This record gives sequence, C-alpha cells and structure tokens, in this order.
Amino acid sequence: MTMLNYTIKDLLNKGKEAVLQEVCVQGWVRSFRSNRFIALNDGSTIRNIQLVVDFENFDAEILDKINTAASLKAIGEVIESQGSGQEIEIQVQKIEILGESNPDELQSTILQPKAHSLEKLREQAHHRFRTNTFGAIMRVRNSLMFAIHKYFNENGFVYVNTPIITGSDAEGAGEMFTVTNFDLEKDLPKNEEGNVDFSEDFFGRHTNLTVSGQLEAEVAAMGLGKVYTFGPTFRAENSNTTRHLAEFWMIEPEMAFYNLDMNMDLAEDMLKYVIAYAIENCPDDLKFLSDRFDKEQTQKPQNERSELSLMERLEYVLHNNFVRLTYTEAIEILQNSKHNQKKKFKYPIEGWGMDLQSEHERYLVEKHFKSPVILFDYPAKIKAFYMRLNDDGKTVRAMDVLFPGIGEIIGGSQREERLDVLDEKMDQLGVSKENLWWYRDLRKFGTVPHSGFGLGLERLVLFVCGMGNIRDVIPFPRTPKSAEF
Ligand code: ATP
Ligand code: MN
Repeated sequence: MTMLNYTIKDLLNKGKEAVLQEVCVQGWVRSFRSNRFIALNDGSTIRNIQLVVDFENFDAEILDKINTAASLKAIGEVIESQGSGQEIEIQVQKIEILGESNPDELQSTILQPKAHSLEKLREQAHHRFRTNTFGAIMRVRNSLMFAIHKYFNENGFVYVNTPIITGSDAEGAGEMFTVTNFDLEKDLPKNEEGNVDFSEDFFGRHTNLTVSGQLEAEVAAMGLGKVYTFGPTFRAENSNTTRHLAEFWMIEPEMAFYNLDMNMDLAEDMLKYVIAYAIENCPDDLKFLSDRFDKEQTQKPQNERSELSLMERLEYVLHNNFVRLTYTEAIEILQNSKHNQKKKFKYPIEGWGMDLQSEHERYLVEKHFKSPVILFDYPAKIKAFYMRLNDDGKTVRAMDVLFPGIGEIIGGSQREERLDVLDEKMDQLGVSKENLWWYRDLRKFGTVPHSGFGLGLERLVLFVCGMGNIRDVIPFPRTPKSAEF
C-alpha cells in the first residue's frame, strides 16, 4: 500500500473513495477530546479531519503533547466515520508532534477554542489566520483576487504594474504619505523660501506613496487598449471609519474607446462575475460566514438589520440589474425622503452640489432601491480634474457604484480626452500642468475617448463576507496610530 500525502481539503473531498488508503496528514490541533478524537485543521479548508487515537497504543508522553494549537503529523488508515458529522476519519497508527503548545499560555490567546471578539482577533493578528472566521475570510479574499485576474485575462485586458512611489502631484484622490530618504534626525536642507528642498532627496524631487495608479494606467491604455492594475494603494486619511484603511489594494481597469455606459457595464459585469466565482469556489467558507452574518443580524436593533441573509444578498446582486441614476435624480430622492424631512441624516440634504456621505449612499441602496446603485453625472465641483465635462458645463461623467452595507465600492469616470477642456480644468483647480506634462501629452498625439474605475478590494471582501469592519478583511491592517505586526 502506498502512503499518500493529502491536504485535509483534498482528503475530505475524496470522501468514501479514500477509505482503506493509508494517508499522511499534517496540521494544527483544534481540539482533543476523550483522549481519543483529534480535530485537525491545516488551513486548506474550514473543515477539520477527525483523527481517532486508540490511547492504549500510544505513549503517555505523546498523548500529553496533543494540546490545542500543537502541530502534528499523523499517519493512518482512512475509515468510514462511526460518528455523525463527518463522512470519513483517520484511524491513526503513528503521530509525530511537530510543535508543542503550552496549555497555560494558550489561555490568553485567541487559539483557545471559544468565541472571541473581532477586536481581540485584531490584537492577535499573528494568530487569527488559524481561526475559523479569519481563515474563511482569507480564502474568500484569495478567491476574489484570483477571479479578478481571471475575468480581466479572459476579457482581453493587459495587467500592468503602475509605480508605488510616484512623483505625480495629488490628483485629489486622498492625502499622501511622503517617501523620503532624508535623515530626519538632522536638519533638512531648505530652499530660499524656507521649505524643505527635495531636490537634494533621493529622487531629486518630492515623492509619495501612490494614492491611485490611474494616471499611469491611462498612459498604458493609450498604447495597449484595455489594461488593469492591481496593487497596494496608500492614503493618509485620518478618518477612523470601518471602511477606510491607510493601505489597501485597488483594482483599476482603464479602457481606450470606452464611454461611461460601457464603463458601467464593465463594472457591473465584473462584480457579478467575481462574486459568482467566490460562491462557486468557497461554498464551505461562505456558508460559515453567512451563518455568522445572520446570527449577528439578530443581535442588532430591528431598523439596522439586513432584510436579506448574506447568501440572499449575494444572489440578489447576481440576478438583478444595478439601478442607474444621475446624481441630480438621487439628490431629489434624498431631499424628498421622509428620512431627510424628519432630520434623521447626520448630514442634512442641502441641495444640488453637495457631496454625498456614506449615510446618503446607504439610504439609496438599502432603504429606497433595495438594490446596488450606480450614480453618475456628478457636479464637476466635487469630482477630480480628469473627469469628462458634460455639455451642460456643470456635471462630469463620473460614476460611483454603491453597495448595501458599504456605500461606495467603486469610483470611476470617463476621462477628459480634449486637451483644451482638460487644461482649463487644471487651471481652475490649480493642478500643475508642468508636473503632469506627460499626462497632457496623451491628449496631443491620437487622443481617444477612454474610461476606467477603481475598485477597493477590501470593500468587495467586506461585502462578500458580510463583515462590518475593513480591519477584519486584510491580514495586517494599517490605520491611524496602528501598524503593529
Ligand atoms: P470614499 O469616499 O469612500 O473615501 P473615495 O471617493 O476616496 O472613497 P476613490 O478615490 O474613488 O474613493 O477610490 C476608489 C475606490 O477605492 C473606492 O470606491 C473604494 O472602494 C476604495 N477606497 C478608497 N479609499 C479607501 C480606503 N481608505 N480604504 C479602503 N478602500 C478605499
Ligand atoms: Mn476617500
């Protein structure tokens, strides 16, 4: 009989087919009960394999070391399970302890098998990959990332890598982190105006961590047609919300010859594709997260509860068209809403021209339409300089995709391809034409209509996993005053 090495996922998927095989599995002990049953997990799946140990055949020394969180390698024969709850189990012949776990010290960790708060999990980010909740989220996150690459690859997009360190000035996306090689313990070189002289810094200019790869993606799209970036993005936003990170991952497709309608179609199609992929490929994890979500809802006040279960919500997104409406229509709906008239918004609706807050976006999605919404044609004044001006002279071809429980998940636009209009806008908003000479150049040599958008990966993971805090869907969150691990 040949011995087979299996991940627990593969073995459990084989099911009864594996019966009588001699197998080797490795993993971490989740529990050991009655000195006989070990629940072993190796991270390949949320499910555990049950190891059956006849303690009469093992040294007490080994048995003593089979503690929660210890790692071990087990060899044995697959048998049909006697108990309920699993199809197969392993009758163990040999156990090798790989790493011990001290039961006394374990008490204070989240590895202790009992319910822990998400806050506590965050404090022990180095342990939380081993918990059911975080493990499930990480596998779903992986599945979504893979699906995103697959989607773009199958649709003729070229994956391009835009720089992480950039010299391009703020394009309005957010506050930036400076990148410097200056010795901050010493006096910094100053110019005649008394400002720090970055010409003496490493890059010979002021540089920062990227807030968006869009401008560079536009450059690539002007040669390659359809491109996308997928990389880390940094924003020094001092807003401590459940939807903002200082370091997050953004997917930014950019397409030549696309107008805003095509851009909206792409955003909707891509979201549906990747969510369907996760549902198909992570059934166990999503089942677990869905039960968790539903349980959490019952603990909320009635008016904050989601009307749909997590799985219903995901299915709803897949099978319904997103509502599309203009910013102007949205303001009217919000202004006339009972919610506004009863002064229930923290930020009251002041009328056309105001920027929408997350509470307004969520009202439209969760209360009014009960559907994902794409808002478009925003006032030029509240949007970035590169968005294409409409003929009315006051709105731009911007779009935001709004999701339940999240608010904005995607922000995008058709870009201004007319150099004269772009120049005027840059002047108005004080964006440096000198710095962005290369961006302007795109409009001088074969300019074309083009569009793109940015999708925040963590906001997508939040939605699919039914989680409420963005810190719980990224391995090591970076937020104001927090960069442990
Ligand atoms: P918000 O108004 O929610 O701060 P934004 O308008 O600043 O978002 P964009 O600049 O359009 O967002 O960025 C595109 C996408 O990136 C957003 O739709 C969102 O999914 C994501 N995103 C933006 N800022 C953050 C952040 N600080 N943390 C995580 N994701 C973010
Ligand atoms: Mn922002």
